[in-house]
Amino acid sequence: MNYKTFTGMVLRHDPLRETDEIVTFWSWEEGKVRLLVRGVRKQDSRLKTILSPLTWLALHAVPSSYLPVVTSAKAIKSFSGISSSLNGFALIFGVFEMVLKTTPDGQPNEELTMLLRKGLEHLDEGKSAGLDFMIDFKLGLFSALGYQLSFSRCVHCQSENSEREGQTGHFSQLAAGLLCKNCHYRFSDAKSTDLRLFQYLNKLGSTETQFLITPAGDYLKKQADGLLSDFLLFVTEREMKSKKFLEQNIKA
Ligand SMILES: [Zn+2]
Repeated sequence: MNYKTFTGMVLRHDPLRETDEIVTFWSWEEGKVRLLVRGVRKQDSRLKTILSPLTWLALHAVPSSYLPVVTSAKAIKSFSGISSSLNGFALIFGVFEMVLKTTPDGQPNEELTMLLRKGLEHLDEGKSAGLDFMIDFKLGLFSALGYQLSFSRCVHCQSENSEREGQTGHFSQLAAGLLCKNCHYRFSDAKSTDLRLFQYLNKLGSTETQFLITPAGDYLKKQADGLLSDFLLFVTEREMKSKKFLEQNIKA
């Protein structure tokens, strides 16, 4: 049969009609894909338990006039340890939300696949600290999506961050990073930001994602997470606007 294999994980279930479901799946092969699962909400569906969001799966799907239809699913690895803590559960669904919002359909992304897998493994071991995990995941996500945030050099003039401890630097979403004292006037959205925040994020961003618990204080971590969340929102909204813009202009 002319089927496709998708390896990865379920990000979201959407009920369809009486017993069907549309599953949004993150796959190694094609990135984010939408698949139709027939009869999955019936009591005796054999796919129901396998298609848990905390399992790494291999799916087979056949093309249809609507969406590819899942014909079989095999669990490769279960990360059910995540469900034993409320915190782990909240974190992984936060991760799914971010991936759903920031990725286009049908675009494979090896770096993001590895990041997701690593995140699942880490949370499954139950040693996660919420803020550290989220900060690291967001940095990894930006890198995988091709947004290279700069926290060590001025994005505009490339000068090394020369301001001293205790001083403030500037961060701009439009410029995607740090701006020096000469350049921040050029960007309307530049906000003065604690320099320690840049040093902290720079250190994290320049090493491979490990989801380690860092010794920084809670205040700094909250600031860092806030800055990254704001940037994520900025990126998501910009993508939506440009998609809308393209659609309108193609129609016109
Ligand atoms: Zn500069």
